[in-house]
Amino acid sequence: MSRIAIVSAMHPELAAVLAGLPQAQKHTVAGREFVLGRWHGHEVVAVLSRIGKVAAATTATVLIERFDVRQVVFTGVAGGVAPVAKVGDVVVASGFMQHDMDASPLFPVYEVPLYGRSHFATDARLTAQLTQAAQAALAQGILDAADLAEMGMPVGRTQVHQGLILSGDRFVSTRAESQRLQQALPEALAVEMEGAAVAQVCHDYGVPFAALRTISDRADDDAHADFLKFVERVASRYSAAILARFFAQQPH
Ligand code: SAH
Repeated sequence: MSRIAIVSAMHPELAAVLAGLPQAQKHTVAGREFVLGRWHGHEVVAVLSRIGKVAAATTATVLIERFDVRQVVFTGVAGGVAPVAKVGDVVVASGFMQHDMDASPLFPVYEVPLYGRSHFATDARLTAQLTQAAQAALAQGILDAADLAEMGMPVGRTQVHQGLILSGDRFVSTRAESQRLQQALPEALAVEMEGAAVAQVCHDYGVPFAALRTISDRADDDAHADFLKFVERVASRYSAAILARFFAQQPH
């Protein structure tokens, strides 16, 4: 039976979803544990890709080749690049680019060689549904007052954005680098390390893909501390709250 894949890079991003799959079957392929079960009425396979583009591409390929997935959803955290993408906001990807792809002067900077493109779009229908689910989850409130205070997040001001996310094999943790990215690619909302790789694999196989990223840090000089605090305390609750609503909307 075809399944929906749920992917995160790291355990804290997926902990609450995995905890909701207690009767699941586990299969290890390529050193990753693929967890098969039923979640909110759907057959799912949940997996941790590990960090970076190659790890993410391997995971996406195994999901499609071995687990017969009909769609892939990625959930995790990212650094905010655009000023509007604040810690605690959610960015739903309309598409991805690799900010560290550069085969110039043979190909235009950012273009993936032999693809004739630098931008890989996500599936429009799934992206719209994921955006709605994120809006509903944030409107209801994902964190309590104590968590908001600990994270330094204002009550009731988190937002959902939809737009371009950048991926690269680098944890962006200086204001200088974040500003360089913003100047080079002004439409970018956030930066992370896996999404563009999954988008490219899904494009190759014709499998619909959608991705959501909660902003854990501002990709600046404080990024490391903000990232760790966010990922440990709250990232998994964002994933579970938003995906639960998303799955409730999916046809059986
Ligand atoms: N576990 C390590 C490394 C985390 S790398 C640590 O403790 O520091 C950061 C992970 O979160 C990646 O999976 C990436 O997709 C995402 N991410 C969050 N903020 C990011 C940023 N500022 N730059 C790049 N990736 C970021």
